[in-house]
Amino acid sequence: MEEPFEDLRKNQKNCQRTVPCQYFAPQRIEEALEILSRYEREIKIIAGGTDLLVQYYDRLYEVNGWLDLKNISRLKNIRINKNEIEIGAMVTHTQLEKSEDIKKYFPILSQAAADIGSPQIRNRGTIGGNIVNASPAGDLLAPLMAYKAKFKLLSDKDETLIPAENFFLGPKKTILRLDQLLAQIILPLPAKKTYGCWIKIGKRKALIIATITLALVVEMDEDNKTVKDVRTCLGSVAPTPIEIKEIRKKMRGKDFNQLDFAELGQIVEDKISPIDDIRGTREYRKDVAKNIMINALGEIDSSFGGRINE
Ligand SMILES: Cc1cc2nc3c(=O)[nH]c(=O)nc-3n(C[C@H](O)[C@H](O)[C@H](O)COP(=O)(O)OP(=O)(O)OC[C@H]3O[C@@H](n4cnc5c(N)ncnc54)[C@H](O)[C@@H]3O)c2cc1C
Repeated sequence: MEEPFEDLRKNQKNCQRTVPCQYFAPQRIEEALEILSRYEREIKIIAGGTDLLVQYYDRLYEVNGWLDLKNISRLKNIRINKNEIEIGAMVTHTQLEKSEDIKKYFPILSQAAADIGSPQIRNRGTIGGNIVNASPAGDLLAPLMAYKAKFKLLSDKDETLIPAENFFLGPKKTILRLDQLLAQIILPLPAKKTYGCWIKIGKRKALIIATITLALVVEMDEDNKTVKDVRTCLGSVAPTPIEIKEIRKKMRGKDFNQLDFAELGQIVEDKISPIDDIRGTREYRKDVAKNIMINALGEIDSSFGGRINE
């Protein structure tokens, strides 16, 4: 493989620790994986850079080299493949927001992408960066969990497919190894009569990190009123995005019109243990979680706002 920026590499011994000495921008995944396995700790993967460069300028860590994924076209596609959709890790928030396939099958993922930052951030920031950055407030994480996403992790030795709920370990911590990159996000196409609702609460409408997010996805039976399955996922209420599984137990097999929304909201409130931080107190978050759950159920009930496949 051609050695990009060999001169820079030779000069590495002259570099200050805080000056990036190597920069790789391969065109093929195989090259990227080879570079990763060779340099592991010395190299940092960069996608849009909207998280990474902020952290780097704050000197949260030292970087000796960069592996830029921007030239790998295979990571930039959204593709329907039989019963699932494959989203490349380098797909930007703008692509997610505008994609007709995402709007049709995964409307709340499109809405969540549209709520991220500003147009500039959405044009650069990627789905892969949002996932691997693993902020509890990452906007795409709850919708991805609610749609049963799996992440395809590649290294030059192996390929792993991991459910979203098993990927996150804590704030900024994931199971990703140093020799691995996130290549694709795979979502099963939802069944007909699947409805969703996305709610993001923050202190203002744009350029705001979420105080709390909710992604609710409800799949109805053929009769369009009996609940077949439901995923209730929240962000910013725990170190990782979480699903409230008790809601599934309560709603499955029930007539949606007979559900007690207040009781379901209370379950959400009882099952979360958020912390106080600058964006909101524990009590505020618990109260808001209950209310947005009630509102989300109401939205699905009255307007079928997240209607899919109809
Ligand atoms: C002003 C501003 C506003 C913002 N607003 C929001 C917001 O409203 N909601 C929100 O959720 N986020 C927000 N963010 C955070 C950020 O824009 C998003 O998390 C974005 O999706 C990060 O993607 P990126 O491509 O820029 O990642 P990068 O910064 O390039 O990378 C982030 C991390 O992921 C790793 N990484 C990236 N891609 C891969 C890959 N394919 N495989 C392995 N590792 C990888 C990098 O090494 C790094 O550790 C905001 C940021 C800024 C600066």
